[in-house]
Amino acid sequence: MNPIKHFNERGEFLNVWHCGTCRVVWSDLGMAEQCCDRHCEDCKTILPPTKKHCWTVCDPCRGKREENREVDRFGKAEKIHRANWGGWVFHNDNFYPCVDDLLDVLDCNGDDIPVYAWACKSSPIVNKDCLEHLFHCIEGEAYEDFSVDELAGLPELREAFVVFMSANADRLTYEPDYTKAILLGWVKPLENS
Ligand SMILES: [Zn+2]
Ligand SMILES: [Zn+2]
Repeated sequence: MNPIKHFNERGEFLNVWHCGTCRVVWSDLGMAEQCCDRHCEDCKTILPPTKKHCWTVCDPCRGKREENREVDRFGKAEKIHRANWGGWVFHNDNFYPCVDDLLDVLDCNGDDIPVYAWACKSSPIVNKDCLEHLFHCIEGEAYEDFSVDELAGLPELREAFVVFMSANADRLTYEPDYTKAILLGWVKPLENS
């Protein structure tokens, strides 16, 4: 609020401001202006200063946005009968290898069966990006302008990495697939079942 400009000893403006109210320093004028005078984008309620709370939306409104996003995702998702899904599912921040495992956990906890859980998609843990990460890492260790292309043995490394990748092709990691909702609650039985 009431941003104050910072200058160096030669009187040149440093593109830095401090908040006239709490004196926190910002390199962005917009942030300096809002610093102690922040309002939720949705309900306009006053937010705590940025240094304590970096969100631009208050907690209850953020919850509402999250709910709306969920409703929206579910509306657009392909709905799949649980009998037609043999893969992993995601519910309440947890992953389950199959629908039955999720239902067992819900049953043990005495929880209601939700209308749906999200399907999961898998990808190999060892993938070609891993080799690129290694190259970035090597370049990070080296001097400026160094390129891994200067190193010896790259064709052999790439060949060996392909073998390593296929040897571990069955080691998978999972993430929610918000385009597929697996219907869990009571749903019309399948036509031919
Ligand atoms: Zn401030
Ligand atoms: Zn709000």
